[in-house]
Amino acid sequence: MQNRLTPNFAFADMVPDHALGSRVWSTEGREYIDLAGGIAVNALGHCHPALVAALTAQAHKLWHVSNLYTTEAAQALAQRLTEHSFADKVFFCNSGAEANEAAFKLARKYARDHAGAHKHEIIACTNAFHGRTLFTVSVGGQPKYSADFAPLPAGITHIPFNDVAALRAAIGPQTCAVVVEPIQGESGVLPASAEFLQAARALCDEHNALLVLDEVQTGIGRTGKLFAYEHYGVEPDILTSAKALGGGFPIGAMLASERVAASLSVGSHGSTFGGNPLACAVACAAFDIINQPHTLAQVAAQGQKLQAALRQLGERSGVFAQVRGQGLLIGAVLAEPYQGRAGELVAAALQHGLMVLVAGPNVLRLAPSLLLNDEDLDAGMARLRAAVADFQVA
Ligand SMILES: *Cc1c(COP(=O)(O)O)cnc(C)c1O
Repeated sequence: MQNRLTPNFAFADMVPDHALGSRVWSTEGREYIDLAGGIAVNALGHCHPALVAALTAQAHKLWHVSNLYTTEAAQALAQRLTEHSFADKVFFCNSGAEANEAAFKLARKYARDHAGAHKHEIIACTNAFHGRTLFTVSVGGQPKYSADFAPLPAGITHIPFNDVAALRAAIGPQTCAVVVEPIQGESGVLPASAEFLQAARALCDEHNALLVLDEVQTGIGRTGKLFAYEHYGVEPDILTSAKALGGGFPIGAMLASERVAASLSVGSHGSTFGGNPLACAVACAAFDIINQPHTLAQVAAQGQKLQAALRQLGERSGVFAQVRGQGLLIGAVLAEPYQGRAGELVAAALQHGLMVLVAGPNVLRLAPSLLLNDEDLDAGMARLRAAVADFQVA
């Protein structure tokens, strides 16, 4: 197949054709086990019947009306998100980057409304990932993604992740927001310490800054709770969601408290497709399955099983030095002799009919369906063991 897309993506050489649950079939008819989940997106696996039904029903009803109108689907999803979180109001958009863009703009405007234009600095973490728009890639702490697009927006400071002293030194009257991923996903599945998130909350309160949690990857059941912040006993002022929110249909959301959301006054921000009824109808159906105690308990249980299996593989093969993460967001850190080769291991896995991810050059990442069953888990691990054996002799 000739690739006519821009060269910013390095596509694998198999082309997915159709899928069901945690299995994917290529155009050549080969079957794959999917433990990548479309990068933590396909929360209910592929083509879940409840999502297909919701999408089909909405497709026969109403597709798009613009934000000159609201719809029952958008209000129903916002009602679910606010009822089950700290938030009172929701802004809908189409991706994680757009949700973060809205969050950062709102943080600036809120500070301007209440304190003045001097209070505009955003503090973020080194190695953080918040999206690929110019603002979000600048707040993200990975210069390799932003440096080529300079000049970058000003008023952004980076501190090392989990470094309370650095945060305390950086925050001040000029700070409008502190932005944190509860688990740094893209850069290695690195959990925030409870001490760091709790200190961030306290320092934000002390300096009248907003705590923004980027839960684009960790939210919507991924860690075994609806939102990862629930593990920490810390509530944000703004939270962003996307990826799993639509179960595979593009949608993003920014959640905020009533007081903070008020700064997003009429006309101050917008999105043509945000709140699209198709996206919201699918997201409602996904939410109703994910936000059930037995689903969330199953995520925690399968996460522990998968971590244990990876740890055992690591001990027997010597390939992994550490296995970390929470629920079904898991990182297996390559041992010293294999550093820098996570991409090769992903390619070897694909050769063995297994879809997995990297999180930086040294970490193998798994973000499978939240409904992953034992059969797919065991078969996936068998394929990974075979891939690791190949990888070690390569
Ligand atoms: C994926 C991701 C984003 C960006 O989401 P897009 O939908 O690709 O724009 C932002 N933040 C985090 C933590 C992510 O994992």
